[in-house]
Amino acid sequence: MDNKKELYTIDQACSFSQEELVQNHRDYVNSNLVSMMSLIGFDKKFVRAQGMHVWDEEGNEYLDFLGSYGALNLGHNPPLIMQAVAKAGELPNMLQAALNPLAGALAHNLSRIVPGGLRRSFFGNCGTEAVEGALKLARISTGKQKIISCTGSFHGKTMGALSVTGREKYQQPFRPLVPGCEKIPYGDLDLLEAKLKPGDVAAFIVEPIQGEGGIIVPPEGYLAGVRELTTKYGALFIADEVQTGFGRTGYLFGCDYEQVGPDIICLAKALGGGVMPVSAYVAAEEVWQRGYGSSERALLHTSTFGGNSWAMAAGLASIQATLEQELPRKSREQGAYFIQRLQELQQKYPLIKEVRGRGLFIGLEFDQPEGVLNTLTGGLLKNLAYEYQGAMVAGELLNKHRIITAYTLNNPNVIRLEPPLIVEKEQIDYVVNALDDILSHQKSFLSIAFSTGKTMLGRLVQGKKEK
Ligand code: PLP
Repeated sequence: MDNKKELYTIDQACSFSQEELVQNHRDYVNSNLVSMMSLIGFDKKFVRAQGMHVWDEEGNEYLDFLGSYGALNLGHNPPLIMQAVAKAGELPNMLQAALNPLAGALAHNLSRIVPGGLRRSFFGNCGTEAVEGALKLARISTGKQKIISCTGSFHGKTMGALSVTGREKYQQPFRPLVPGCEKIPYGDLDLLEAKLKPGDVAAFIVEPIQGEGGIIVPPEGYLAGVRELTTKYGALFIADEVQTGFGRTGYLFGCDYEQVGPDIICLAKALGGGVMPVSAYVAAEEVWQRGYGSSERALLHTSTFGGNSWAMAAGLASIQATLEQELPRKSREQGAYFIQRLQELQQKYPLIKEVRGRGLFIGLEFDQPEGVLNTLTGGLLKNLAYEYQGAMVAGELLNKHRIITAYTLNNPNVIRLEPPLIVEKEQIDYVVNALDDILSHQKSFLSIAFSTGKTMLGRLVQGKKEK
């Protein structure tokens, strides 16, 4: 430690005990989140990660089927990405007084692979920033204000992105949000047409498959319908592919399933190869020109870290690896197998209400308890199940079988299965067998809650009563 201020060094931080790790978060970061994570054993200390696995201090190996919400398509610490970043190590990483060769190269490569012949890239650091940039571009390019998005959607939590995110719980404490943002149900083309008809809408922003909403696959032809209607009424079509991009859904991009091209695409997560924070929006030439195509407008939207050399190197290498390793095809094939195995489980266990998804973007929704006990508790049981059933199964998978998963943010009753796209069939089988084991012992929400730890149910009930 530094003597005067008692500052930790990087070496000390890397060798914290589990108690020190938790205590620092309790004292200086988000203490309530620590409590929630501790409840289901999500406060372990991991010391190494490679490919599909992470290891704790005792050398126990865990299988990662969460894949950092779609950021780890290539697995943990992929050597190819680490090497690419090291290659850029001697370049100036950030030098605003010069054009970065790697940024130009990545923009070129993105224009070659994204749907719709899009061309102009803006680089940022996270998905939310790509969404913010896309919303601003839509306004400046069309001169209109209204943005339509979907209920259940997730586009990020900064003010602009939050304003188009479709979950009241996240929005309510921060009102008033950005004006002119309206929601319609996902998959509803009639209502979209009604909203677009007056011709005053700048853009419709939509995920090809809703991720945080609970892995919701839209009706066939939905994106083609969106393309047709937005063109007809002069609004821009923004595809938020932050989570669905780079092979996740069994296609290089989610829009490729319907062979549809948007006007602006938002990318992040897997673009950084699981190593660097990288995001981008890519826009159609004419859309971008109308927005920023003059010298007075060239600096209207910028980002200090956007386009730095290390990030761009990771982006270039992650695209190359995704294509060379044929990850979209692998995701399609492994995903089809995984969904089929999960559907077999669904036949066995009524607690599984639905299995859905495309590629390796899969959601498992649980049934909620009805009946006498739920009535006796004034519906408390059903509410608890909705909020915590996904987390409890994820806790069982972690603590009993050393498998990492999580629930979806907007729909906590759904477990998301988003392994790196390098996953092997045997690893899928291992997860299916683990779920089989958990559900064969725990046939209802209550038994899972009791098994997860008797104290947990008590603490949950107590917490609900206090609210
Ligand atoms: N858009 C979508 C579809 C997402 O799934 C997410 C994050 O999960 C975001 C935007 C926000 O991305 P980030 O957390 O990198 O800011």
